[in-house]
Amino acid sequence: MCILCRMGAHSMKTQVAIIGGGPSGLLLSQLLHVRGIDSVVLERKTKDYVLGRIRAGVLERGMLDLMREAGVADRMEKEGHAHDGTLISYGDEMFRVDFTEHTGHAVMVYGQTEVTRDLYEAREAAGGAIEFNVEDVVINDADSDAPFVSYTVVGQARRIDCDFVAGCDGFHGVSRNTIPDDVRREYEKVYPFGWLGILSETPPVNPELIYANSDRGFALCSMRNENLSRYYIQCSLSDSPNDWSDTAFWNELKRRIPTDQADKLVTGPSIEKSIAPLRSFVTEPMRWGRLFLCGDAAHIVPPTGAKGLNTAASDVHYLYNGLRDFYENNSTAGIDSYSQKALARVWKAERFSWWFSSLLHRYPDQTTFDHRIQVAELEFLRASKAAQKAMAENYVGLPY
Ligand SMILES: Cc1cc2nc3c(=O)[nH]c(=O)nc-3n(C[C@H](O)[C@H](O)[C@H](O)COP(=O)(O)OP(=O)(O)OC[C@H]3O[C@@H](n4cnc5c(N)ncnc54)[C@H](O)[C@@H]3O)c2cc1C
Repeated sequence: MCILCRMGAHSMKTQVAIIGGGPSGLLLSQLLHVRGIDSVVLERKTKDYVLGRIRAGVLERGMLDLMREAGVADRMEKEGHAHDGTLISYGDEMFRVDFTEHTGHAVMVYGQTEVTRDLYEAREAAGGAIEFNVEDVVINDADSDAPFVSYTVVGQARRIDCDFVAGCDGFHGVSRNTIPDDVRREYEKVYPFGWLGILSETPPVNPELIYANSDRGFALCSMRNENLSRYYIQCSLSDSPNDWSDTAFWNELKRRIPTDQADKLVTGPSIEKSIAPLRSFVTEPMRWGRLFLCGDAAHIVPPTGAKGLNTAASDVHYLYNGLRDFYENNSTAGIDSYSQKALARVWKAERFSWWFSSLLHRYPDQTTFDHRIQVAELEFLRASKAAQKAMAENYVGLPY
């Protein structure tokens, strides 16, 4: 039986109704809880479904601080792996960009599945209200002082009255489209390729990530821990995971990374295989009345450079602090500047992800000139400490 039913209520009141129980919604709910601000999270899927989604794996310093502030960092500090740099290859050439040397900060390799698990455990331990399997979510009167969210669970109508609504329901959620068409502006770039990713219980080929530009297309060697590797190759948008046997995947990956790395690559059966399309997308504004968009509900980046989850976290930071300001100081300054502050950082993450994607992928219409420019830029990055510093600054995450 759901939490709301146990409370004997099909209608209830909370301070912040949060649509979406992914990382944005859960992190916001937990941070608000720490400050004594009440919320209810509505999630369309089951908890197991959300926990089973293999997605991001590299956390910026700002996100680490938020996890600490939310009181959910213990396992991450123990089991996460700090990475002081990354490797970039083109053909058989490879060089390293040292994050710590250039910025004084590292990033943490800790899977989104683990972040979400830690957040669910914390919300459940605190008796936080989370409703799963919700359907027909509608955000009502967001442009008034009395918004409410209506939805159904197993065909039964429910309602939550609230002060604010946080739309944390990802790219395919309902929140973004609640903002009227004549208010909303959307900016989009769709890339003409996808990423085929596999997860395998094998040791990573290298202790640090390798971003590879090759004549056959992009590849990424990533990991979750010392015996769990995540590898990606650029693929055609018309491919399906079933088109790629494990052997075909490993053979293609080996052709795209430097020979000395390919020679030591340990292969094994995949335990997950999927294709993600690549897209850059931003919607503006991120606030309409008492509705605030957070994370993938408002913006998408191609995963090159690991900015998706981290940009969701920076939105949560601005919204959480704005709501705190409202409840603790009776000030609307933070929520009034939310959209502007969040978007200023979002666009910088969009730029970095677009730049890094452009540097490393093969485009169908790429000319030999375009290719030589890519190589020149890679050689510049390899040789220039200033260029490396700019890349490292973006990779570890711009300050909030
Ligand atoms: C295949 C894939 C791979 C990725 N890899 C990386 C990566 O390597 N690095 C990186 O940084 N980022 C990556 N990302 C991006 C990253 O995972 C997202 O940026 C991150 O999940 C955003 O979190 P979110 O909570 O905003 O949205 P989501 O994780 O999408 O969560 C939204 C939640 O809302 C729920 N929901 C949707 N509609 C409704 C509704 N109507 N009512 C109630 N609930 C609803 C959904 O079920 C979901 O649980 C990847 C994304 C994808 C899709």
